[in-house]
Amino acid sequence: MSFFLVHVTHQFHTPHSSLLIHIMNNVFVYCETEGPNVLEVSQELLTKGRKLADKLGVDLHAIVAGSGIKGKVETQILPYGVDKLFVFEGNGLSPYTSAPHTDILVNLFKEERPQICLLGATVIGRDLGPRVSSSLTSGLTADCTQLEIGDYDEKKTGKHYDNLLYQIRPAFGGNIVATIVNPDHRPQMATVRSGVMQKALYEGQAKGEVVYPDVAKYVPEADYVVKVIDRHVEAAKHNLKGSPIVVAGGYGVGSKEGFELLFQLAKELHGEVGASRAAVDAGWADHDRQIGQTGVTVHPKVYIACGISGQIQHIAGMQDSGIIISINSDPDAPINKIADYVINGTVEEVVPKLIKYYKQNSK
Ligand SMILES: Cc1cc2nc3c(=O)[nH]c(=O)nc-3n(C[C@H](O)[C@H](O)[C@H](O)COP(=O)(O)OP(=O)(O)OC[C@H]3O[C@@H](n4cnc5c(N)ncnc54)[C@H](O)[C@@H]3O)c2cc1C
Repeated sequence: MSFFLVHVTHQFHTPHSSLLIHIMNNVFVYCETEGPNVLEVSQELLTKGRKLADKLGVDLHAIVAGSGIKGKVETQILPYGVDKLFVFEGNGLSPYTSAPHTDILVNLFKEERPQICLLGATVIGRDLGPRVSSSLTSGLTADCTQLEIGDYDEKKTGKHYDNLLYQIRPAFGGNIVATIVNPDHRPQMATVRSGVMQKALYEGQAKGEVVYPDVAKYVPEADYVVKVIDRHVEAAKHNLKGSPIVVAGGYGVGSKEGFELLFQLAKELHGEVGASRAAVDAGWADHDRQIGQTGVTVHPKVYIACGISGQIQHIAGMQDSGIIISINSDPDAPINKIADYVINGTVEEVVPKLIKYYKQNSK
């Protein structure tokens, strides 16, 4: 893996944003809701945001906006170590539309001047993040896989920066890992996909203050011009992200029928089936089962990789699994280097035996 530093100062330089840089304030997380429920990706980001805030010695603030959320979202957000929660409750804020939510963040950030803002890399986060970032002429890195705090020396000017947000993500087709910094403009903004960070209730003492700002002060009437008439949300077909056991198939599985074997094994183990991109592209597994840089990220207790070579783009989505078992006909397959157990053999030969012996031994 290479290490690479890019900075985005000059792209976004304006007199307005240089005003913002001297006031280094708190870390903010935008929390998304579905009805009265706060999304897991937001809770994952709160856990990460708390760590960043602790490292910087600042507060963690959260924002949530919607209709009918007051009194329902607070207990889903505060336990993740939030010092101050801004609940924007009002008609027209759910379902999400771009203009009101953008103005809430933009106008609140003009008052609060955060140094960092994190959002989920969801449909909403991908719409909202760039709008807010461009209004405030800051910078934004999409789909970060890691976020850390560190210093930065600008080679050209010799200027030193303390405590910037390292926005780390795969770049150039995933062949390098880029660390992107935004030295001069605030907030430093990043989106992160669901499942990449791990949520955990905060064990320290956070202030836990909740405020309910007057929405009309932040959102002009004209923002409500777009009305959502009908909305259809499809329920997830499987629980790949939350499953403790994942049986994942790659191009080495050889066919759609070969994947049936993986479904049988997953059923026996009470797990879920995942796939590499090569297997998805071949039409052997649905796209929503793809694991990796452009698919989902999983953290199961056991990950069984069947006929997967282990390219960096795949590994990005499963490397934090508890135990990795690789079944591969090539003893030198790259995935074997990160595997805890390697079974050298073909999927056709090994998987039926696993099913047979698991059935026998669990009687
Ligand atoms: C921008 C970008 C994003 C990408 N995003 C992703 C992503 O999110 N997820 C992802 O998975 N990939 C992604 N890729 C593709 C990635 O680079 C690889 O091409 C892909 O992961 C390879 O899939 P594979 O390991 O199944 O196939 P292969 O690389 O073809 O490997 C097949 C493996 O199966 C073994 N094998 C063959 N026959 C058998 C058998 N009968 N029994 C057992 N083993 C056998 C072989 O030894 C080999 O190790 C991305 C690529 C790019 C450029």
